Amino acid sequence: MAKIAVLPGDGVGPEVVREAVKVLTTAGARFGIALEFEEGIVGGAAIDRAGTPLPPETLSLCRASDAILFGAVGGPMWDGLPVNRRPERGVLLLRKELGLYANLRPIRLFASLVDASPLKREIIEGVDLMMLRELTGGLYFGEPKGIIPAPDGKGEQGVDTLIYTTHEIERIARVGFQIATQRRKRLTSVDKVNVLASSELWRRVVTETATEFPDIELDHMLVDNCSMQLIRDPRRFDVVLTENTFGDILSDEAAMLAGSIGMLPSASLGDGPGLYEPIHGSAPDIAGQDTVNPLATILSAAMLLRHSLHQEAAAAAIEAAVSRVLEAGYRTPDIRQPGRTVLVGTAQMGDLVIESIRKG
Ligand code: NAD
Repeated sequence: MAKIAVLPGDGVGPEVVREAVKVLTTAGARFGIALEFEEGIVGGAAIDRAGTPLPPETLSLCRASDAILFGAVGGPMWDGLPVNRRPERGVLLLRKELGLYANLRPIRLFASLVDASPLKREIIEGVDLMMLRELTGGLYFGEPKGIIPAPDGKGEQGVDTLIYTTHEIERIARVGFQIATQRRKRLTSVDKVNVLASSELWRRVVTETATEFPDIELDHMLVDNCSMQLIRDPRRFDVVLTENTFGDILSDEAAMLAGSIGMLPSASLGDGPGLYEPIHGSAPDIAGQDTVNPLATILSAAMLLRHSLHQEAAAAAIEAAVSRVLEAGYRTPDIRQPGRTVLVGTAQMGDLVIESIRKG
């Protein structure tokens, strides 16, 4: 029996997570996977009920589970709180507490959505890449950090520290090479070796780690060039491996290749349970209207089956079902296209995916 912690969160979180749980239940039944779901509170919902964005019971539930399905957190009613007590802190704390150092964002453009991307068809048709971002090191966590008096006595200075250790680079590089082994066997490591000492070590360690994976073709690219190549020729990429800050920026850029933010799943992996969530936020502007696109969360559920439960056939069946539903022309408002598409709501989109999984 696999135990899944379900953390719907705020805004559209509960709506999209409900559909993903329906889909997991259906895929579990079809593929004979016993699943047990237990819900926990997180984010603004947890602040309102327990006074903190990540209550200890929620953290214990996550630690005791095989995987975590997460919706989204945040909303205008909590925007007045200090940064370290806001809903968004809930997900940052979870990543830190569970040591989720590897963030995977597959960027796949479904053939039927080519026209939903702002880029030209001839550039993006067939895009299928994996952004792999180191999530717990680098500039966002390095010490010293803060605003201190400037040494010349004139005002202040803001300090952040960019640190990477051999161990941190090696473990994320291994995840990258392992993913590439299951894909098209190419890995592009992104750095800024011409300027940064941390990048010099990054490139050296990635190159050394590559010797453990002789089947994988490795190349290195400077981050500024990568940001250009992602738009110029995105199909050249298979796995893109990079550090925390570069990954933060490049993964949002790459997300636009796939059209809508409502289509993009993610996984954050460490040595314990993995966390699966759509890349979008709590979308308070459309919450409670049955219009939010649940496919990013449904595709995150497929990643959960693949990466945490090692159920590749069930994961692929969900992805194929999503593809068939889109090919049949069903669209939530964010991916609506003029012409022959049929507009559906959140729950109906979930039902269509379920029906398609059952028919297989
Ligand atoms: P957002 O991703 O919530 O929404 C941006 C825009 O995209 C909105 O117009 C929204 O309606 C639309 N959108 C988002 N997801 C959609 C979907 N599945 N289907 C259709 N349309 C969709 O980003 P935001 O508005 O900047 O942030 C809203 C709140 O979410 C903030 O409080 C922010 O801090 C929080 N947030 C949370 C997470 C997280 O939980 N991991 C991530 C990002 C933002």
